[in-house]
Amino acid sequence: RLPVVAIVGRPNVGKSTLFNRLVGKKLALVDDLPGVTRDRREGEANLLGLDFRLFDTAGFEDEDPQSLPGRMRVQTEAAVAEADVALFLIDARAGIVPLDAEIARWLRGSTTPVILVANKAEGRAGEAGILESLELGFGDPVQISAEHGEGVADLFEALLPHI
Ligand code: GDP
Ligand code: MG
Repeated sequence: RLPVVAIVGRPNVGKSTLFNRLVGKKLALVDDLPGVTRDRREGEANLLGLDFRLFDTAGFEDEDPQSLPGRMRVQTEAAVAEADVALFLIDARAGIVPLDAEIARWLRGSTTPVILVANKAEGRAGEAGILESLELGFGDPVQISAEHGEGVADLFEALLPHI
C-alpha cells in the first residue's frame, strides 16, 4: 500500500495547483476551475522519487453556493483520517485569515500529523504571511510555489519522516 498524503486548506490557497503538479496534468480533471473542487480527488503522486497517494480536498469551500458543505466537510475529515500526513496549505501572499485559524484548530484535534505549507511564496510578497503563519502553532512553514515549482526539495524533506 502506498502512503497517503492529504492536501487541506481554505479555498484558493493553491491545493489543486499543488495536486496537479505532483500528480501530473494528465490525471487532473479538466472541469476543475481555479478555486473550485467539488469533491475529493485522488491520484498517484511522485515527488523526487517518493511515491504516494495524494488527496485533494474541498471541504472548506463553503462559499460555493452550489456546494453541499456538510457532505464535503465529511469527505475532508475522512481524507485526513485516512492519510499518513496532511499538508495544511496557506496562502503566504494573503496571510492568515480566520478560516485558516479555524482549520488549524480542527487539525489539532486530529491524530494525523500536519505539515504547514506556505504556498505562493515565490518572490518576497509572502514574507509577512509566512511570519503570521507561526501563530497557527504548526511551527515554521515549508515555503513553496506550487505554480512555479519552487520548494520541492523542502517539501520532500518534510514528508520523508512521515511516509
Ligand atoms: P484551491 O482552491 O486551494 O484548490 O486553489 P487553486 O489551486 O485552484 O488555486 C487558486 C489560485 O491561486 C489560482 O488562480 C492559482 O493559479 C493560484 N496559485 C496557485 N499556486 C500559486 C503559487 O504558487 N503562486 C501564485 N502566485 N499563485 C498560485
Ligand atoms: Mg481546488
